[in-house]
Amino acid sequence: MERHWIAGKLTASTGNNVVPVRNPATEAVIAHIPAGTPEDVADAVASAHRARTAWRGLGPAGRRPLLLQAAARIEHEAERLADILTAENGKPLPQARAEVLGAASWLREFAELAVHFRAGSQGAPADELVFQRWEPRGTAACIVPWNFPLQVAMETLAPNLAVGNTVVIKPSEKTPLSLLYMVSHAFDHLPAGVVNVLLGDGPHAGEALVQHEGIDVVMFVGSVRTGRHIGQICGHRTTKAILELGGKDAFIVDEGVNVAAAARLVADSCFANTGQICTSTERVFVHRSVLDAFVSELTAATAALKVGDGREDGVDLGPLVDDIQLATVEAHVADARAQGAVVVAGGERLPRPGYFYPPTIMVLPDQGASLLMRRETFGPVAPLVVFDTFDEAIALANDSEYGLAAIVYSNDANHVLSAVEGLRAGMIKVNTRRGKAPGATSEPFAASGLGYGYGQEVLAELSRQKSVQWHRMPLA
Ligand code: NAD
Repeated sequence: MERHWIAGKLTASTGNNVVPVRNPATEAVIAHIPAGTPEDVADAVASAHRARTAWRGLGPAGRRPLLLQAAARIEHEAERLADILTAENGKPLPQARAEVLGAASWLREFAELAVHFRAGSQGAPADELVFQRWEPRGTAACIVPWNFPLQVAMETLAPNLAVGNTVVIKPSEKTPLSLLYMVSHAFDHLPAGVVNVLLGDGPHAGEALVQHEGIDVVMFVGSVRTGRHIGQICGHRTTKAILELGGKDAFIVDEGVNVAAAARLVADSCFANTGQICTSTERVFVHRSVLDAFVSELTAATAALKVGDGREDGVDLGPLVDDIQLATVEAHVADARAQGAVVVAGGERLPRPGYFYPPTIMVLPDQGASLLMRRETFGPVAPLVVFDTFDEAIALANDSEYGLAAIVYSNDANHVLSAVEGLRAGMIKVNTRRGKAPGATSEPFAASGLGYGYGQEVLAELSRQKSVQWHRMPLA
């Protein structure tokens, strides 16, 4: 039985309920975690509170070497961490290694950034000093999903720690092992209680954590459904919440482009991490003049992808994370088929143990109302819809409940400018699927979230500003 990480040590749960953790490639149970009780939550929050004064007192320059040391230790443990990640999440080992190194580099970035964050104070009249004082908010609750168990966890941990908040972090019950290992092996030199890992499921451990009166800010990364629920709780309690939620990203393939290159980028953007990325492409709009060539290039690019256990060499797509995710993908594909979509590749789960679904291409008569075009699928499916004018493509992309990111693939500068201006998405990517350059930031549109999750702005979100106006004392 796994244990929480509280006050700098592994700590048994006060309860007996357990949650199994499975390897999605074999369906075998590889560990059990406690479900998490309100008493466990109270312990973790109390531990984070005890650590606040010392952690805040170090200041950003004092925290920097400790966080850089943690980053170095993550790199030192990279092989072990990648192994655990692949076992619990299914992703191919090389991608797991890249995620571990990405998490370490994110930590370095924020350790440095916080030192320079709002370091100066502002001018004022001669007899007054007026300035803004930025303070850590206190104790953050970080609740994170399973698709990048270390990278997304680090996107919440690094900025919180760098600005001086102490943290209780709850990993997804599907992939708790890599985060527990990373924190207990790479952060154990931090003062006890600065980082606490609370194991457990959402409705019990997660909700009790969000409800706890000792939490000053909630940083949640996960689905729209859970995010809205957590947003309601935080609204009721007037607790600051940053919500980074799901998406249904559009990819516009314009006329006059290199069709083979566009197809390779679409395959990468739809199928990387088996389609389980918040900014995966989930809707592809293709100009009529390139449709036929595009379909044949995408089919060729897809046929070259290898599906398998993440531990095998040369695997591009691991399994989906569990049977629930598999059932969602199957339901979305079936619904689109029933509404006239034609399957060009894939379209059926693979007949083997494990939650394997092949990369799938479908051509739809229009955007329509199918689940595949309206709800986040989070699987390796590329649904294609044809358009005739660029304005129509933008309107199709914007006809969605979500607004996380979008990709436009075009040689036409005016089309690109129209997309940058017209697309209702926080992250606009032009001829690339990369979107989180260091220093860049964005706020999602619509149901995809609230607040800034990265860049300088996340440091502001996680701090509290006081204005101070200090007048000269009259001498007589
Ligand atoms: P989820 O909402 O089911 O769970 C996310 C986390 O919330 C888990 O730790 C879960 O235990 C917890 N949780 C569930 N119910 C809760 C409750 N009532 N109270 C408190 N906590 C609760 O999401 P998921 O399936 O783990 O992750 C996939 C989703 O995450 C997708 O929608 C994806 O788009 C999104 N995501 C978004 C980003 C982003 O940056 N916007 C990044 C990665 C993933």
